[in-house]
Amino acid sequence: MHAKHDLSGRRIVVASHNSGKLREIADLIGPFGLEARSAAEYDLPEPDETGTTFEENAYIKAHAAAVATGLPALSDDSGMCADALGGQPGVYTANWAETPDGKRDFGIAMQKVEDLLREKGALEPKDRTARFVAVFCLCWPDGYAEYYRGEAEGHLVWPPRGELGFGYDPVFMPNGYDKTFGEMTAEQKHGWKPGEANALSHRARAFQKFARARLGSR
Ligand code: IMP
Repeated sequence: MHAKHDLSGRRIVVASHNSGKLREIADLIGPFGLEARSAAEYDLPEPDETGTTFEENAYIKAHAAAVATGLPALSDDSGMCADALGGQPGVYTANWAETPDGKRDFGIAMQKVEDLLREKGALEPKDRTARFVAVFCLCWPDGYAEYYRGEAEGHLVWPPRGELGFGYDPVFMPNGYDKTFGEMTAEQKHGWKPGEANALSHRARAFQKFARARLGSR
């Protein structure tokens, strides 16, 4: 790492337009006193996510934001991988929610996953295991990039439960809990504060690695 790739300017741009992710990243960054600017403040376009891995798509978003703003940028590429579906929808998690008029409907996406699980006869929790993955990319305008990956394991329930969270949260029950992410407050879903040992959500786990590597967190 070269000195020009530090965060001593204390200012980064969070390269996401997804309000659910932005809220969670803002919660997680809050205690560290970074000046986190949003992609919307800079009117950044949303680049096409043409990669086939979370890392590739995270890089595309962070690099575009860093080049456009001249600031270090932090992106999050994430998704849900169902084991019985060979890891689908994976990097295409957001695409499965797309409607013909170009909007996103996660009710439809969750139903699609459920229909496919039923086609496979995956009705018992042991056959419905899944993980959420989040890859954070921290990238500078010159293309230097670092990656932080977090995963949360659990299983998929039906019908959806809970009004909290976003995306596929209402069908994901993390291992060791009897609530879905959709039934947890943000604090419960993150399961982590600076200085504490173990985060719960994929995003908090990825953030925890970033905070340890870059923000002096324990
Ligand atoms: P992308 O990273 O922009 O490709 O979108 C990832 C998609 O994965 C989001 O639109 C959500 O539907 C889903 N996703 C990612 N993280 C979470 C989460 O914490 N809860 C629920 N859904 C999530």
